[in-house]
Amino acid sequence: MSQLEDLLSFNQKFVAEHAYRSYEAPSRPTKKMTIVSCMDCRLIELLPKALNVKNGDAIMLKTAGGMVESSCSNTMKSILISLYELGSEAVYIIGHTDCGMHGLTSDKMIQDIKDRGVTDEKFAEVGIDVREWLNGFQTVENEVQKSVSIVKSHPLLPQGTPVIGLVIDPKTGELKQV
Ligand SMILES: [Zn+2]
Repeated sequence: MSQLEDLLSFNQKFVAEHAYRSYEAPSRPTKKMTIVSCMDCRLIELLPKALNVKNGDAIMLKTAGGMVESSCSNTMKSILISLYELGSEAVYIIGHTDCGMHGLTSDKMIQDIKDRGVTDEKFAEVGIDVREWLNGFQTVENEVQKSVSIVKSHPLLPQGTPVIGLVIDPKTGELKQV
């Protein structure tokens, strides 16, 4: 059975057995919080469990490294939507130790892309400075701080919004404030 067939057959059963009932929740976050965290697959269940966040409690945004890259990035737009349109009142930026973005340089990633047969012409088609865009970070604390300051200094951030930086251990779930 292919991955898609497997997925669809599980899904039919999930719906037929009403397994969704224990996840029913309002569409506005009851804990009025927005969480930006890394897309790391170890955090799928661990992060919400370690923060006591359940379905419907928070707006969850996932990016590589949990990075908010710039004041006009899609992540920043999502944060503003969560605060103005979805009733969220606080922003938590949560990086983690042992992150795939730690120490990742754009040189390595560009080489990895080229190794898969992508040509220089294709890189030129992207239309931005790929070398800048594909960089990871050198220390997670600095990266979280950087993201916090981008959000905090955004001209459209509602006044008085708490913006909190944290680092989570992807094994134990332990949080440390940055
Ligand atoms: Zn990560």
